[in-house]
Amino acid sequence: MTDHLIPKTMGQQFGRRSWAEPWKIKMVEPIKMIDRAGRERALVEAGFNTFLLHSEDVYIDLLTDSGTSAMSDRQWAGMMLGDEAYAGSRNFYHLEEAIRTYYGYRYIVPTHQGRGAEHLISRAAITPGQFVPGNMYFTTTRLHQEMAGGTFVDVIIDEAHDPAHLHPFKGNVDLDKLQVLIDREGADKIAYVSLAGTVNMAGGQPVSMANVRELRALCDRYGIRIYLDATRMVENCFFIQEREEGYADKSVAAILREFCSYTDGAWMSAKKDNLVNIGGWLALNHADVFELACNMVVVYEGLHTYGGMAGRDMEALAIGIEESVQDDHVRARIGQVRYLGELLVDWGVPIVQPIGGHAIFLDAKRIYPHLPQGQFPGQTLAAELYLDSGVRSMERGVVSAGRDPKTGDHRYPALELTRLTIPRRVYTQAHMDVVAESVKAVYDARQQTRGLNMVYEPKYLRFFQARFERL
Ligand SMILES: *Cc1c(COP(=O)(O)O)cnc(C)c1O
Repeated sequence: MTDHLIPKTMGQQFGRRSWAEPWKIKMVEPIKMIDRAGRERALVEAGFNTFLLHSEDVYIDLLTDSGTSAMSDRQWAGMMLGDEAYAGSRNFYHLEEAIRTYYGYRYIVPTHQGRGAEHLISRAAITPGQFVPGNMYFTTTRLHQEMAGGTFVDVIIDEAHDPAHLHPFKGNVDLDKLQVLIDREGADKIAYVSLAGTVNMAGGQPVSMANVRELRALCDRYGIRIYLDATRMVENCFFIQEREEGYADKSVAAILREFCSYTDGAWMSAKKDNLVNIGGWLALNHADVFELACNMVVVYEGLHTYGGMAGRDMEALAIGIEESVQDDHVRARIGQVRYLGELLVDWGVPIVQPIGGHAIFLDAKRIYPHLPQGQFPGQTLAAELYLDSGVRSMERGVVSAGRDPKTGDHRYPALELTRLTIPRRVYTQAHMDVVAESVKAVYDARQQTRGLNMVYEPKYLRFFQARFERL
């Protein structure tokens, strides 16, 4: 139904056969692949958890796009302009200006990374016992909401839980689900709407402008605030430009300003869209929440004009924000992800569709139908991929979903995925070819693959440190 809205290739969209990145390489970092016996050893030592591998034992690192981007020459030049004053660093004011210009919010609180900002907003805006509806959970986001006494409620559209559904905006909020929650609990029991664009756990899927506009109207009727997880909002805006009526001729930057204008504030892992290796921020339009966040930032992060970042990091971030919203940059970034995804689709490997903004999500449930979810198919696939070629990926399934805090049982998400996350401006098309061929080899050997058993499980965010053995 919506198939025609999603151009198959970037070339098709821009009327040319091929496209290329809007940059050239000035410095290189050597990488190498260790042999199969070495990879076996490394994997067993890491308890079959790719988070526990040494990066030196990894060939192509697609664990995450978090803090793994390449900075530009302008950002590196900015690193030399750090004003390392304890208070009132000029780099902070550059950062504040960049966020105000490109995202449009009034008050800015810097934090050391995204979860620092999640902690502040959760504590400032949730009263214990309240509900936090959102468009699918994210690991650290939900944990901070729960630790602040809130209960997360998933109000994403049903299509998001179906890895094969081609809805162009699978990140959309289902307004009926939200209305049901408001009617059942009362508006004063809703802390705020936790809106993410793009939706990481759904496969990097976008939210449409129409959806956020309607969400704003609904929330206004009840006096409910909307806070945005802006971590990959720039990528979300590219999809709006590509797929939503009336936005084809607007710049990504203009779309970003409009989208954010329907929300009351945002938190940011600047390690993603914003092209830096470390950093984050919280941005707010209301003085009451800002004051609470300012009171807490000095306890948990640092003074409100650095929040855990060095001056030079804030300068690189201010420059990164400006670079991140450029149309040609976003197009090349998402184009590379799409290139990898299309190879896999052509070869019949089941992945989440439509192809999202930051990663390819392999559908481990469909790849290993013989493995029950309790044998961790997503984790197994990540391990097999590393064994085959030294490519590092990440589980996004039952291990990431953790346990229900009330019942103590595993949460079994509908999506059991393995994520190949593409760092920004780091790898070439040839690297993508190597990755695709390795995925194909692992896919071809799927019937002989055995699952895993969890032998160590940490209490919080278990996917980071859990250990496994082969069954
Ligand atoms: C990475 C991420 C976060 C957390 O940010 P950190 O910088 O890793 O602390 C929050 N939300 C989303 C969607 C993310 O991808």
